[in-house]
Amino acid sequence: MNLNKLNALTGSYESNANMPVLFVGHGSPMNAIEQNEFTKGWQSITKSLPKPKAILCISAHWETRGTFVTAMAKPPTIHDFGGFPPELFAVQYPAPGETELAKETKSLVVKAVVGLDEKWGLDHGAWSVLKVMYPDADIPVIQLSLDYTQSPQHHYDLAKELAILRTKGILIIGSGNMVHNLRILDWNKTDQGFDWAEEASAKFRKLIVENDHNQLINYRELGHDVELAVPSPEHYLPLLYALAVKDEKEEISFFNDKTVMGSISMTSIQIG
Ligand code: ZN
Repeated sequence: MNLNKLNALTGSYESNANMPVLFVGHGSPMNAIEQNEFTKGWQSITKSLPKPKAILCISAHWETRGTFVTAMAKPPTIHDFGGFPPELFAVQYPAPGETELAKETKSLVVKAVVGLDEKWGLDHGAWSVLKVMYPDADIPVIQLSLDYTQSPQHHYDLAKELAILRTKGILIIGSGNMVHNLRILDWNKTDQGFDWAEEASAKFRKLIVENDHNQLINYRELGHDVELAVPSPEHYLPLLYALAVKDEKEEISFFNDKTVMGSISMTSIQIG
């Protein structure tokens, strides 16, 4: 790791405190262009945070073999979904990238060989939230991919190596959904969750508050409701990234703590 370089990059961050960390339940990409209780939650969190020097986002929607970090100066806005209205496809989020931060992130990680990526950009896990939180798109954003060949423990350990970025004014955001099962969505349950989804949410909240990261890493042992809540790991893993960079004594708060359409929880957390 080259701390001098990192200091040069982030030297103007005037705070002794660690930058807070977020896990954001992103839900439907339509949140990017709607105004609803969840977008209000994102906006009010933004107001409570110091302005970041840059943002590192770990999105559910960038899975790769191996680990990569976006390293281009101008990451394109990726519309990685189908079946939504043209207004959503017209959305652009022209936040700059930050090549130096990408290189520093690569050098911080010893758990994996991190590749510098020039082809991805910002997927909707990142921009649908950031468009609401930072509509001016004036803060550099990089993304780190999820290596789909690796275990939850690997992701957690890798994420720990990123914690130092918090001291440099970098806002780390995990973007996913703790409960995310698209196969059994119920469009009539606009505002509530299935019983198993609420059970799973309650389990997650309890373990998060208790700092029981070990159980959260081994979520496959948490029972049938959690099995239904996390049928595949990609929307859950960004939560482990956020928790891994938490200091044990730091405060944690929940926002947008609600399940929609039966099987998607928007539950989000702020650490620090
Ligand atoms: Zn998603």
